[in-house]
Amino acid sequence: MPPAAQLSFIIAPVVLNETGDGEARVALMPESVQKLVEAKAFVSLESGAGLGAARTDEDYTAVGASVVKDRKALLELADVLVVVNRPAPKDFNGLKKGAVVLGFLRPLDEPAKLVPALENGLTTFSMELVPRITRAQAMDALSSMATIAGYKAVLLGANRIPRMFPLLMTAAGTVPPARVLVLGAGVAGLQAIATARRLGAVVEAYDVRAAAGEQVRSLGATFLEVDLGGLQTEDKGGYAVELSEEALKRGRDLIAERAKTADVIITTAQVPGRRAPVLMDEAAVNGMRRGAVVIDLAGLTGGNVTLSKPDEIVERDGVTIMAPTNLPATVPVHASQLYSRNVTAFLKLLIKDGTLHLDMNDDVVGPSCVTHEGKWANQRVAAAIDAMVK
Ligand code: NAD
Repeated sequence: MPPAAQLSFIIAPVVLNETGDGEARVALMPESVQKLVEAKAFVSLESGAGLGAARTDEDYTAVGASVVKDRKALLELADVLVVVNRPAPKDFNGLKKGAVVLGFLRPLDEPAKLVPALENGLTTFSMELVPRITRAQAMDALSSMATIAGYKAVLLGANRIPRMFPLLMTAAGTVPPARVLVLGAGVAGLQAIATARRLGAVVEAYDVRAAAGEQVRSLGATFLEVDLGGLQTEDKGGYAVELSEEALKRGRDLIAERAKTADVIITTAQVPGRRAPVLMDEAAVNGMRRGAVVIDLAGLTGGNVTLSKPDEIVERDGVTIMAPTNLPATVPVHASQLYSRNVTAFLKLLIKDGTLHLDMNDDVVGPSCVTHEGKWANQRVAAAIDAMVK
């Protein structure tokens, strides 16, 4: 611990052991700690916090962090708690008033879970709310994690199907390539397409945003087009909007048709702050070949496939449906490395001359804030809470 006099002018970011099931990531890797120490931060972490990402306590002390066993003492010390996942209520309660919390807080999916942060007068910043503007690209943790999820989903599928991915010409005859269908061609979907193509699969992809077509084709996949009658499908932030039931049905009909010949289907479709759109119903799964696999990456927000169950493996007449909700945690070194760089870039906006400086007029800091000085700072979250009270 630094001497008490120093604590008053040196910002103290703190990292805890992540306690969620299967969570192996750590919010700050040693390389980022080093950068924060250079910015005059006094970084402390709970003993063992980096082990899941193959980083020991010694790796952290070597770059100037302090390692502490007592979680309660760490929370009391924290000016900034840097997390991967939203802390438990008792961790929120252990922080001092005015402390900052930064991480994936799920403010739009589960706003009520942030009430303890509001009541304790904490300033919370959500990595999900970081605007996708050029200046904030280095802080785009959603894209970092989606990249890993898209990559890993293909490996899961390849591992599960009873066939190989590439086209092979052998003395025993030709082995045809696997057929992969990717639904939703955002960050995760594009990475899934790229990975499946590298393994030699023939890939088709569908997205409601017409702009995704060019990116899909540039990766060597076929873009499936649905006539949505000139409907507006994306907002000015580049995100998909919620579609009418009729428009969704047109997409579903095409998907059900293409699903009949797919070996692996990876679904990634999301609409921020809404339930994930249903893209495959039971009939679509029933139409698939035996041995085929569906990997639903939207499990946390309700799923794209009616039969999928978060973190369970469902079998249906020889078709496997999986909905892993935290694939980035299964690649903990690279997931932590990217995440740690993202949050460190954000922290650098908050630290000036070793002290905390919260400029809510900053076009990245302000929009990312969820609670501040006992009030909801984000209108969408405040509206969601209001709607729950009424
Ligand atoms: P996301 O996770 O919110 O959604 C994944 C994909 O699902 C999106 O491509 C979306 O269009 C699609 N989708 C939604 N409803 C659908 C439906 N009914 N049927 C089929 N597909 C549907 O999105 P994301 O991956 O986070 O990216 C969203 C957008 O933001 C993309 O345009 C992406 O290129 C853009 N983006 C920009 C930046 C940046 O400028 N810094 C960074 C990352 C992403």
